Order: sequence, then structure tokens, then C-alpha cells
Amino acid sequence: MSLIIKPCNFCNRPVAKGSGTMFAKNDGTVMWFCSSKCRKNMTVLKRDPRKFKWTGKYVKGGIRK
Ligand SMILES: [Zn+2]
Repeated sequence: MSLIIKPCNFCNRPVAKGSGTMFAKNDGTVMWFCSSKCRKNMTVLKRDPRKFKWTGKYVKGGIRK
């Protein structure tokens, strides 16, 4: 039995299938989150993960335009 590992859509940490949260958007896009914290940040607060140091997507020195 193999587990499918997906990166969390917010913090980029690997999420094993069966753990974490799957979120399907109205347009059909499926997103994976390691925790409700990440899900909330992405779907409710609509934060940019590149702005937060605790995510794996953090961009040092700011986001290039
Ligand atoms: Zn996460």
C-alpha cells in the first residue's frame, strides 16, 4: 500500500493522503492542506503564502513583480 503525498497548497509541506484536508473549489480545482490553519489562510483569509515565513513558499526579500 502506498500513500500519495501531495504538497500542502499553502505551506508546501508534504501531506500524506488520508491526513490533512482536501478542498475542492467551485471551478473544480482540488487543493490539499496539511491543516485547517493552512486551509483558512488560503480560502478564508486569502493570504499570499509567499509573505509568511512559516510556509515553504516564503520569498526572502519580498515578492518580485
Ligand atoms: Zn500547510
